[in-house]
Amino acid sequence: MPRASTSDIFTTDWQTRPFWWEDAPPYPAGADVPERIDVAIVGGGYCGLMAALALAQHGIGALVLEADDPGAGASTRNHGHIGGVGKLPAKLERAVGAARAAMIKEDAVRGWDYLRDLIQTQGFDVDYVQRGRFLGAHSQDAYDALVRRAVEQRRDLNLTIRAVPREEQRQEIGSDFYFGGTVTEEAAALHPAKLYRAMRRLAERAGVVVCGQARVDGITRVARGFRVGTVRGSVIADQVVVATNGYTGAVSPALRRGLVPVTAYITATEEMPEALVAECLPTNRTGGDTKRSLYAFRSSPDRRRIVFAARAKWYDGNEREAGAVLHRHLCRVWPQLRGVRLSHTWKGQIAFTFNHVPHMGSQNGLHVVAGCNGSGVTRMSYLGRQIGLKIAGKQNRPCGFDGLPMATMPGYSGRPWFVPILGRCYELLDGLERAGVLGHR
Ligand SMILES: Cc1cc2nc3c(=O)[nH]c(=O)nc-3n(C[C@H](O)[C@H](O)[C@H](O)COP(=O)(O)OP(=O)(O)OC[C@H]3O[C@@H](n4cnc5c(N)ncnc54)[C@H](O)[C@@H]3O)c2cc1C
Repeated sequence: MPRASTSDIFTTDWQTRPFWWEDAPPYPAGADVPERIDVAIVGGGYCGLMAALALAQHGIGALVLEADDPGAGASTRNHGHIGGVGKLPAKLERAVGAARAAMIKEDAVRGWDYLRDLIQTQGFDVDYVQRGRFLGAHSQDAYDALVRRAVEQRRDLNLTIRAVPREEQRQEIGSDFYFGGTVTEEAAALHPAKLYRAMRRLAERAGVVVCGQARVDGITRVARGFRVGTVRGSVIADQVVVATNGYTGAVSPALRRGLVPVTAYITATEEMPEALVAECLPTNRTGGDTKRSLYAFRSSPDRRRIVFAARAKWYDGNEREAGAVLHRHLCRVWPQLRGVRLSHTWKGQIAFTFNHVPHMGSQNGLHVVAGCNGSGVTRMSYLGRQIGLKIAGKQNRPCGFDGLPMATMPGYSGRPWFVPILGRCYELLDGLERAGVLGHR
């Protein structure tokens, strides 16, 4: 494919801020760090906020300490896909055993119910639409595997999911890139930064104290709990929750050893004629695919842009270079978008776990929740709530994700040197599978 020069693919006012911040940018939280609190929460994304909300709703003092302006992490940078029950590993039973897998699946459904109910009961204005999700197959084998998996998902997760053969694919996506796919009707989309803003307002109204620009730089045990040091002073807390996900740093080394942080890149096109967006995404569903090096896409809430994500780089690189790669991938799916420019390209951190299951538990007396594995709008909000309820002693039953051993690799300290190598292998395998040289795993 001929490469456009970069001046052709970026608008003159192209930005590295998330497109979502146009409507709902993170804003400062200048409250002083108090001397004492019942529970201190490190990390002010969806997870930290929902943990704090659950605590405050049960009369427990909750303090959120955020390194940046609250929300500046993945929680306002994501795609806003909420995929029904979210991603779970295909071999979950083998990874955690049948009984635990059943609990996890139940929690996956509960998580979805929780977020949807929260949005509806609180009347959150978050551009929520439930139009379903198209998952495209990158090879014939991948399509056959998707169809088989759909049968299990209908049975185990009660999802309304159906196959879309390649001949009918153009009803779902204005592209011949895929070998057919599946549609899951329960999947929805929302505006991630508006969701964050609504959650923050709700938490603050419930009495949660949110401190921004308060990076935690040390957590030490003291007689009455923990001393949590921040760049703006320290606080003594009875209990501490670490909810730093893809931004986990040296302050929680044990957690860091179980997480593989990966930089994810995402871009928004400039405004396009509505007819062109409708041609590309006729059903206004969210979209993704079966590649290891996957694509994800949707339209903006006003249906004037396409928001597109791909593994543009396998390391933390610069947005302009990533934007050029994303534009090439976008045009592989929709060659008709070759003349369309990008207005925003941004990045954010996600965290994978070695068994691809999110982790909730305790380490050295700290409560930890992390490892969204790329799908955390629903999941991390729900797990935040669960850890809050657990500390308050208000869970109906233990959470399925809670207390599983956290796998790591010998010698691994949290610096994922192997990701660029793995990434290249993934791209190679995807290409060989697409060409039919290799079967799908
Ligand atoms: C580009 C992209 C696209 C995505 N798309 C989707 C999607 O479509 N659907 C989906 O379900 N999920 C998606 N995700 C994942 C989703 O955004 C995350 O799972 C979710 O936001 C995680 O929330 P969190 O609260 O756990 O972490 P975050 O929102 O990342 O918050 C963690 C916070 O911890 C703070 N922090 C770190 N260290 C410290 C410290 N020492 N002291 C104080 N604060 C600290 C960080 O500054 C950060 O704000 C995407 C993620 C990215 C990056």
